[in-house]
Amino acid sequence: MIPAMGLTPLEIVRHLPKTNCGECGELSCLAFAVALLSGKRTPRDCPHANLEGLSLSGGPNPSSELDQAWRILEEVKTEVAGLDLRARAGGLGVEWREGRLLIPYLDGLVELTPRSARRIDGLELDPRDQILLYNYVRFGGKAPLSGEFVGLETFPNSVSKVATLRRYAEERLARALSERFATLRKALSSFRTREIPAEADLSFEVYVLPRVPLRIHFWRPEPEEGLPPEAKVLYDRLALEYLDLESLVFCAERFTERWLEVAGIR
Ligand code: SF4
Repeated sequence: MIPAMGLTPLEIVRHLPKTNCGECGELSCLAFAVALLSGKRTPRDCPHANLEGLSLSGGPNPSSELDQAWRILEEVKTEVAGLDLRARAGGLGVEWREGRLLIPYLDGLVELTPRSARRIDGLELDPRDQILLYNYVRFGGKAPLSGEFVGLETFPNSVSKVATLRRYAEERLARALSERFATLRKALSSFRTREIPAEADLSFEVYVLPRVPLRIHFWRPEPEEGLPPEAKVLYDRLALEYLDLESLVFCAERFTERWLEVAGIR
């Protein structure tokens, strides 16, 4: 069930497959979300998502929300335009080639210039992805990673973000892994992962960006003990040298979404 009030287009996109298949009559899932909030489309127009419980009333103005996302993107791009991108490449762990940064991102490679960011395999990057990528470049990596992993709750002012991480990444991971463990494990090979000694039923590190590893642990449910499946996402202790708190949470959320997509789970 999707929470009824306060939905924005970007929040609705979280509940869509993000395949941009066009079957709803819109060019992309994001365009469908906007059309949904404007009343042009209904939840039934997307045959690939269960939008039961979605309320289209009472939320913020969709066009202003979208405008805001694009405005933030333009602001970050403007900041990045004033930077020496070539000089930043090393600190970000990315390659500089022919006037652009080549940034490994999730299971793809992104070409980024001050004007545009696109996956070289043609897969669409929505504004959230682009804001994340430009933020990564803007931060520039101020210190080497520590190699020590901690929970998000150890970072300052993280209370509300911990709840977001729980809802959009950890709970989804726990549920999906308890149902489709083998499929998801196989799909991990599409990402930049590193095996680590198992501390749980599944433990691994995945690089969302070259200097943004997530350490993920999963524990199977133990019905006899009354314990549900559990997942925990950890970050490098110095992750805030590379991204702000909100972007770090988005990294986990986006990895979760993409992992399920790659595994064919919707
Ligand atoms: S039909 Fe659904 S999955 Fe396909 S583009 Fe529209 S919203 Fe996205």
